Amino acid sequence: MSNPTPSAKAFVPFVSVDHMMKLIHHIGIAPMLRGICDRIEDDFRRWPLFDKTPRVASHSDVGVIELMPTSDGDVYGFKYVNGHPDNTKDGLQTVTAFGLLSDVASGYPVLFSEMTILTALRTAATSALAARVLAPEGSTVMAMIGNGAQSEFQSLAMQAIVGISEVRLFDIDPAATEKAARNLVSSGLKITQCSSAEEAILGAQIITTCTADKQYATILTDNMVGAGVHINAIGGDCPGKTELAPAILHRADIFVEYPEQTRIEGEIQQLDADHPVTEFWEVLTGTAKGRTNEKQITLFDSVGFAIEDFSALCYVRDAIKGTDFFTPLDMLADPDDPRDLFGMVARAK
Ligand code: NAD
Repeated sequence: MSNPTPSAKAFVPFVSVDHMMKLIHHIGIAPMLRGICDRIEDDFRRWPLFDKTPRVASHSDVGVIELMPTSDGDVYGFKYVNGHPDNTKDGLQTVTAFGLLSDVASGYPVLFSEMTILTALRTAATSALAARVLAPEGSTVMAMIGNGAQSEFQSLAMQAIVGISEVRLFDIDPAATEKAARNLVSSGLKITQCSSAEEAILGAQIITTCTADKQYATILTDNMVGAGVHINAIGGDCPGKTELAPAILHRADIFVEYPEQTRIEGEIQQLDADHPVTEFWEVLTGTAKGRTNEKQITLFDSVGFAIEDFSALCYVRDAIKGTDFFTPLDMLADPDDPRDLFGMVARAK
């Protein structure tokens, strides 16, 4: 007997890595970064509507595996993501991810997608959204410390969304800096390769730290950070994994995604639990202040929050409509009689 054909509602659109790359080239990376940024901004503006929880993390000596769920009441989403700083030594990536959206009314999945590339896009779009609001007016130069997988995406988002024109690259591994410089050569950005973090921050209004090391690292020391800069600290995103000297945190006004998660994972894990921080969504809605003067050091203590993944998945769900950039995936059992699951299995013999 032939296999029963599942109905259209049982097929879930699956966006593979290959589809995601084609989608990026179809839309263009700058418009896609701007589109995801707009979607994140819209969702941050309706922040109270969302279910929120710190991500569920399973730690090991070498890394972490996490689940990041949220829902706006109509759509539910989650991401699976890992963080393994030593992976690159074995030819594997530090961060890989995939994610899913579901219809809350039926519980049926409506999108299944690769999210390794999408995470790089959404992290870059979130950084740029924060910098657009918090960085000094007219910022043109960014120091990019840590030139791994995220770094080109971060640079291009700052160009597309904030309008920077120069990136100053530094990594402890010169091959990583070479790679980033090569990848950004036709971006229109002025690229300066630096031999130290101190050199990279010269003249930069925005400092992005995006290094991977499972320890309390000190990528920036207190004396390196002058008045008025915006720091976009991305790499410290796990308990015991930070990038900034604590003294910097005491001089900065700190903006976070979801405090309950950031206090566990972010730079502020180094501070007292009641140290004041501002929730970034409140700056967007106007209920909290962002940058108030040109001497202020603003710090976006980014760890990555589920709503950003939800926004990025919703962007992809809409963007693939009418395209071939997905495969209908037979991942939901769909018996003719919903209660006859066994009969469907038996007839498939
Ligand atoms: P990656 O391993 O590809 O790159 C990290 C780079 O940091 C490497 O090139 C490494 O040589 C460099 N590095 C390590 N120590 C350094 C130091 N002391 N000074 C300068 N460079 C140093 O990793 P990736 O995918 O680019 O991710 C970077 C970090 O960002 C990871 O820790 C990851 O967990 C984090 N991350 C955060 C978010 C977020 O939303 N906040 C999202 C994605 C990744």
